[in-house]
Amino acid sequence: MPNETAHLAANLAAIRQGIDAACRQAGRDPSEVTLLPVSKTFGPDVIRAAVGLGQHRFGENKVQEIRDKAPVLADCGIDWVMIGHLQTNKAKDVARLASEVQSLDRMDLAEALDRRLQLEGRTMDVLVQVKTSSEESKYGLAPDALLPFLEQLKTFGTLRPRGLMTLAIHSTDPVEVRSCFRRLRELRDQAQAEGFDIPRLSMGMSGDFPIAIAEGSTEVRIGTSIFGLRPYGDAYYWPET
Ligand SMILES: *Cc1c(COP(=O)(O)O)cnc(C)c1O
Repeated sequence: MPNETAHLAANLAAIRQGIDAACRQAGRDPSEVTLLPVSKTFGPDVIRAAVGLGQHRFGENKVQEIRDKAPVLADCGIDWVMIGHLQTNKAKDVARLASEVQSLDRMDLAEALDRRLQLEGRTMDVLVQVKTSSEESKYGLAPDALLPFLEQLKTFGTLRPRGLMTLAIHSTDPVEVRSCFRRLRELRDQAQAEGFDIPRLSMGMSGDFPIAIAEGSTEVRIGTSIFGLRPYGDAYYWPET
C-alpha cells in the first residue's frame, strides 16, 4: 500500500472509531451513523484511493468540483453528494451529476432542481438545510419556515425529502454547538409528528461530530480528519464569513 493510501486508511479507521465511541457514549447503535467523506479541494487520485478503501459516496461543496472530478472518476461508480450553497443556475449540473442534495434551502432552488430532474428523467433524495445558529454567515432555511416548506415540496414529483442538514455555530463552546444540533433534531421530530417522513439528520463535521452524534445525528460530514487540511480556508466555502 503506498504511503499516502496507508495514511488515508488510518484516518478513515480512526474517524470510524471516533464515531463508534461517540455512539457508545450516547447509548446508540453505531450502525445508525453514516460517514460521508467530504473531498472538497482534493483531487481524483486521493478520491480514487478512498474508493479503493471502500468509500463510494463523497460530499462536495461546489458544483464546479463535481463537474471537474466526475468525468475523471466515472469508472468508480461514485455517488456525489452536494452539501454546499447552490446557485439556481447550477441546478442543471447537479441534476445531471449528483446523487443527492443536502443543501436545499429555498423554493426557487427546489423549482429549478425539479425542472432539471424532469428533463433528466430522474428523482433525487434531498435534505433541507436549516439555519440553526444565529450567525449571519450561515445559509439555510429559517426554522419557522420548515413545515410550510416541506408541505410545498410535495408538489415536486422529482424531489424526495429524506431529512435535514445543518452547520452548527462555529464556537469553542460545546453548549452553544450542541444547542444547534438539538434544534435540528427537535425540528425533525416535529416534522415527523406532522407526518413528514424525514428521518435523516446530517450534522457534525471534523470538529464537532461527537456532539452531533449525542444529539441524534445519522450522518456526519467529515473532511479534514480524513483528507487533511485544505489549501483554502473555510472562508472560500462560506464566502460571507
Ligand atoms: C467542508 C464541509 C464539511 C467538512 O468539514 P471538516 O471540518 O473539514 O470536516 C462539512 N459540511 C460542509 C457543508 C462543508 O462544506
